[in-house]
Amino acid sequence: MNTEIISVGDELLIGQTINTNASWMGEQLLNAGIRVDWVTTVGDNAGHIETALKIAESRANVVLITGGLGPTHDDITKKVISRYFDSKMVLNRKVLENIKARFKKRGILMSQVNRDQALVPEKAKVIFNDNGTAPGLIFDRNGVTFYVMPGVPMEMKAIMKRFVIPQLREKRGERTILFQIYCTTGIAESTLFQKIGDIAEIEKYARLAFLPSPSGVKMRLMTEGQTQKAAQDALKQAEILLRKNIESYIYASGKCSLEQVVANILTQRGKTLAVAESCTGGLLANNLTNISGSSKFFDRGIISYSNQAKMQALGVPETLIAEHGAVSAQVAQAMAEGVRNTAGTDYGLSTTGIAGPTGGTPEKPVGLVFIGYSDANETLAKRFNFLSDRMGNKERSVAAALNLLREKLG
Ligand code: ATP
Ligand code: MG
Repeated sequence: MNTEIISVGDELLIGQTINTNASWMGEQLLNAGIRVDWVTTVGDNAGHIETALKIAESRANVVLITGGLGPTHDDITKKVISRYFDSKMVLNRKVLENIKARFKKRGILMSQVNRDQALVPEKAKVIFNDNGTAPGLIFDRNGVTFYVMPGVPMEMKAIMKRFVIPQLREKRGERTILFQIYCTTGIAESTLFQKIGDIAEIEKYARLAFLPSPSGVKMRLMTEGQTQKAAQDALKQAEILLRKNIESYIYASGKCSLEQVVANILTQRGKTLAVAESCTGGLLANNLTNISGSSKFFDRGIISYSNQAKMQALGVPETLIAEHGAVSAQVAQAMAEGVRNTAGTDYGLSTTGIAGPTGGTPEKPVGLVFIGYSDANETLAKRFNFLSDRMGNKERSVAAALNLLREKLG
């Protein structure tokens, strides 16, 4: 089964609307065991829509079209596709009743353009739309099925869930696609690639993809099987081979959330944490408090941005800052220890660095960050060189801090 999505709308081409329809459809279809092979985006232009339909018909057997079904002059998909299938328009009573009922419910007068929405191509099967006025349409020709849906995300989703996905599931039979995400942090993509070793051996069972992000590199294994069992077995085999040499770098699978991993351990053990942040400006505390139930382990975050704040709020000695600078291992340690003592928690973490783009020097360039860690037995700092922009450096610092704590928690 080859699947193509055609997204119609000028707004998608000029960056005014992000094509969330295509990404949502791709994800939902994958979960249903159907892989999307192409996404084509085209403007509200009759010639271009027709060309897109032609190309899709030549290479796919399932074509999912969204957008441009509305009643206004700029929504032309229905007109173009009717012509494409050489189909005249007929009034559909049921659609008309649905439109009338909607307008009555809303207490507004129905206009001729709304009545026109009840005109549907004769050759199409109609999918009733409970969430809007434009019905969905299905065309079948020479083994290719075209599903035409409204662009409004809520309307498209309802039609997909109720009609399209169940139909496609039936079409694909037992064939299954399975995938899993493996989350790593603190290791570069290329190093990870080298450490894994025999990629070809893994790819006998599943395709492996690397997805880098500021908080770490994710890996995805994806496999197809004639049956659910075959796909499960292949994925399992691939996972064993993948984990073999890099197990210690994988902190989670499925959902990549370092803060969740750290939160789970701290909560389970009844331990507490306080953080002192300079270059991350509260992002570390923000991420930690995004976890529901974080009050069980998170005591406080102090944003000690200035030297003054580091001295007053955390008791960092003035001489230490004068001697080593605010961005230094010594100050990071003093911050982590300071916040742990002030808060009376089991653990203290700190960040201090140069987020950029200004403020760098040859000795202390943009992206230089020290992460401090403190518990009852030891206090230490790690040095990092993140070569990112301001936001990227902040995100990487937060990931490094969380990962340091995770490693220490064992
Ligand atoms: P209706 O029949 O309800 O008028 P329609 O089929 O005419 O729907 P459009 O007019 O093309 O749909 O789009 C309606 C709205 O849906 C747009 O304002 C746009 O924000 C959103 N939309 C359209 N296509 C997409 C898409 N691919 N991804 C996300 N949003 C979209
Ligand atoms: Mg439109």
